[in-house]
Amino acid sequence: MALIVQKFGGTSVADTQKILAAARKAIRERRAGNQVVMVVSAMGKQTDHLIELAHELSEHPNTREMDMLLSTGEQVTIALMAIALESLGYKAVSFTGAQIGIRTDATYSRARIRSISTDRMKRALDEGKIVIAAGFQGIDDDFNITTLGRGGSDTTAVALAAALQADRCDIYTDVDGVYTTDPRVVPEARRVERISYDEMLELASMGAGVMHSRSIEFAKKFGVLVHVRSSFSDNPGTVIGPNPERADAPVCGAALAKDETRVSVYGVPDKPGVAMKLFSRLADAKIPTDMIAQSSSAAGKTDVSFTVQSDDAYKAKEVVENIVGEIGAESYDIDEKVAKISIVGLGMLHQTGVAQKLFHALSECGVNIIMIATSDIKISALVNRDDAVKALRAAHSAFQLDVEPTKEELEASDGVNATVANFDHAVSARLISHLAGMEDVVVESIDLDEGQARVTLYSLPDVPGLAATVFDRVAEGRVIVDMIVQSSGRDNLANITFTIPRDELEAVVAVADRLCETYGCNSEFDARAAKLTVRGSGLRSHTGLAFRMFRTLGEGNVNVSVISLSERCAAVIVDEAHGKSGRENLIKEFSEETF
Ligand code: ASP
Ligand code: MG
Repeated sequence: MALIVQKFGGTSVADTQKILAAARKAIRERRAGNQVVMVVSAMGKQTDHLIELAHELSEHPNTREMDMLLSTGEQVTIALMAIALESLGYKAVSFTGAQIGIRTDATYSRARIRSISTDRMKRALDEGKIVIAAGFQGIDDDFNITTLGRGGSDTTAVALAAALQADRCDIYTDVDGVYTTDPRVVPEARRVERISYDEMLELASMGAGVMHSRSIEFAKKFGVLVHVRSSFSDNPGTVIGPNPERADAPVCGAALAKDETRVSVYGVPDKPGVAMKLFSRLADAKIPTDMIAQSSSAAGKTDVSFTVQSDDAYKAKEVVENIVGEIGAESYDIDEKVAKISIVGLGMLHQTGVAQKLFHALSECGVNIIMIATSDIKISALVNRDDAVKALRAAHSAFQLDVEPTKEELEASDGVNATVANFDHAVSARLISHLAGMEDVVVESIDLDEGQARVTLYSLPDVPGLAATVFDRVAEGRVIVDMIVQSSGRDNLANITFTIPRDELEAVVAVADRLCETYGCNSEFDARAAKLTVRGSGLRSHTGLAFRMFRTLGEGNVNVSVISLSERCAAVIVDEAHGKSGRENLIKEFSEETF
């Protein structure tokens, strides 16, 4: 007898007929002799509707009351689902988040799960009942109702699958799987057969609507095999597991985050700890920052730019407004009309020229890049919101994401079935009992790469095609570029920083000299750079982590010049002289989270 968790999103339970259809999917598994736990969302657009009601009364409603309000959506669905199952002759019982014992922290509207007690669910399952759990909600230590953030039912489902050591977690939704990008935006987008946890995690966290990114973090950490499939058809869907679809493709998908906001703080005193103060305040306010670019502009001053989701723009503005005077910065500005496109793929770990290809694709359709940030398996470009769709389509076609993999390619990256057998319950049980909170970040390793050099080009004209030209020239010198950061400063000037293997520096200096002649820009080199990398999962979305990394380095007087954040790795460039001590301090700082 297997244990299956089935999750039904809002569109799959939008009316009573759809609730009945979902109930039949659970019954099918039950009749096959399996135990079934259903996790359901609020019906249709109910959550949006409730939010609108609150906003009719207040511009910034109390967050505790918002969670109280929004949790009612799921409570309606669980009761109706139980009624539907009983009407079809099956025993069922519904539970709210509190009743199943989903304990969270007290961060209203984006609470994190700390623990789940499985006793009550197991008893009901043993009595032959189909268990129906409310998605998206839990309670904190004071019994306040909390919610996990929009789309959080996915996270509930995968977390329950992990805690119950389920054999599978099926996510039923209104699309028939994971696509190379949103097919409503790019019609050529294609359903992928399978995708690796790491790729899905970055795509989801970069805006791919299909799964809540924290749910993938869970799945990876606890080895839950997730099957995304359509509620309305029997199409094969997409399996999210340890294996990529193609072993050798540089890019597996592209994501668009339409509602991004860029924040730049100008003229920040360039002393250790100052920029850190800014990020610590943002972390305290639980505002996730994504792309981060720092660059020296005038003597002793640096500009810091970062992006946040537009939902957080208001809070970020408050934080920045307060801190500008305090840290002695000159000014700040906020651009709320930007969007971020990202390409993701495990294959880019071993391939060169991937970023360059993206820059070309954007340049050829006349899109100006406002910011660039790269990490090991992800490249993001910030563009004007009006250019976003054009940019996404260009990226999708440049990497031929519409082309189906061949049978041979699929076989070459096979192993998904092997994973089911390998799913190691003992390991995940240990992990669950070890983590104080199920959603705590997990650190796998902390590495130091000493052979790096950093190159910065200052005051380049911020025009379409700039990054393409710069990296074409660099590539002509056969140089392998690692991290790339571009930021737009004041007066329509851009700075580009990148890192290279140290022994390539001489070639790059020559290239940079020529670029400076062409553009009238300045360059700066650091031949003694080192890269410190923290690997794990959930590193970007755990807002406090990057800050702890900066603080730890700052306290050891280590100056950080380049920052790159993704879900699976957080990397910084530091002075080589501080590499070893920096690594030791980080190992100490993250000892609790390291396995
Ligand atoms: N009902 C919640 C929302 O719309 C949770 C979910 O659907 O996953 O965000
Ligand atoms: Mg939803």
